[in-house]
Amino acid sequence: MRKKTKLIHGGITGDEQTGAVNVPIYQVSTYQQESAGNHKGYEYSRTGNPTRFALEEFIKDLEGGKQGFAFGSGMAAITSVFMLFSAGDHVIMTDDVYGGTYRVVSKVLNRFQIEVTFVDTSSPDQVKKAIQSNTKAIYVETPTNPLLKVTDLRKMSDLAKEQNLLFIVDNTFSTPYWQNPIQYGADIVLHSATKYLGGHSDVVAGLVVVNSDELGEDLHFILNSAGGILGPQDSYLLIRGMKTLGVRMEEIEQNTNKVAQFLQNHPKVKSVYYPGLENHPGHDTHTSQAAGFGGMLSFDAGSGEMADQVLKRIQYFTLAESLGAVESLISVPARMTHASIPKDRREELGITDGLIRISVGLEDAEDLIEDLNRALQ
Ligand SMILES: *Cc1c(COP(=O)(O)O)cnc(C)c1O
Repeated sequence: MRKKTKLIHGGITGDEQTGAVNVPIYQVSTYQQESAGNHKGYEYSRTGNPTRFALEEFIKDLEGGKQGFAFGSGMAAITSVFMLFSAGDHVIMTDDVYGGTYRVVSKVLNRFQIEVTFVDTSSPDQVKKAIQSNTKAIYVETPTNPLLKVTDLRKMSDLAKEQNLLFIVDNTFSTPYWQNPIQYGADIVLHSATKYLGGHSDVVAGLVVVNSDELGEDLHFILNSAGGILGPQDSYLLIRGMKTLGVRMEEIEQNTNKVAQFLQNHPKVKSVYYPGLENHPGHDTHTSQAAGFGGMLSFDAGSGEMADQVLKRIQYFTLAESLGAVESLISVPARMTHASIPKDRREELGITDGLIRISVGLEDAEDLIEDLNRALQ
């Protein structure tokens, strides 16, 4: 099956009992047992629910893994994955990781003695240097948020295998439509499904795919123990959104490419960060491991004042956190998504006050470009 076909025919489709073409919303918490302990595969909906299971099978097929899991948010998914570790374990993580991920590891998981070192994972040498005797995993985002830095999945996976570490990839930005990290040796792939997978700004969810039944058993144990599950209504909504992932990503790709070209040629724009541009340092690596560049790009408007001007004048880009929706979104990472990262650390990373991040949506590219042009005058 090719990608768009898999989006329609992958996972579990329809309902055998009634012939319904969609998986029904099983709004149920418990299941009748024929005799004690003798049931039809479901006993309690924290442990398993048929609508959630259909979603879990769907993402498993899309990422090409062994088992899938659905959580109540991307952060619930990430936190649950970290619960695979124990006090005293150490994880190496991409330095410009999602702000919420930085927060949970540096302010919550640190209290449980899970230790993290932030490294520029686009440099395998730096990752190698950060490995300690208690290191258990390498955790990367590629491309990153908001500077779109690219990590070489093959090299990182080789390094992880050589050192016997788990290799974990947050694949939110690329989506399984463009990039499948398991294909290059990732052990765990996770998503904030709130973004492109849901795609319509109407559901908060997290998905995880593991590449072995052993990891699947461990993660299901955590999901069932900690209980951060996704409910049946949201599972249904997410399946509905994911069916159109292919057409959305194709259209977003074309729009983003046009917007990136426009910004790159604009005299008031200092720099543009988009892996689809040939002058982007991660362009070749990204091209070697993903079939598309996605809809995220950032540009430096020069100053915080200029960024304010743009935000004030822009019409078609909604000022909001989040990304990957049908509507184009705009944000200033320094004051929004990355505000939880201390200022000196932000500047170290290149997240300046004038940096504007956009998530290109499904509007006409010409309208988006005219809008940006007006706002930049
Ligand atoms: C949004 C996001 C998350 C967190 O997901 P939520 O669904 O908001 O909890 C994690 N990683 C990345 C890359 C994100 O963009």
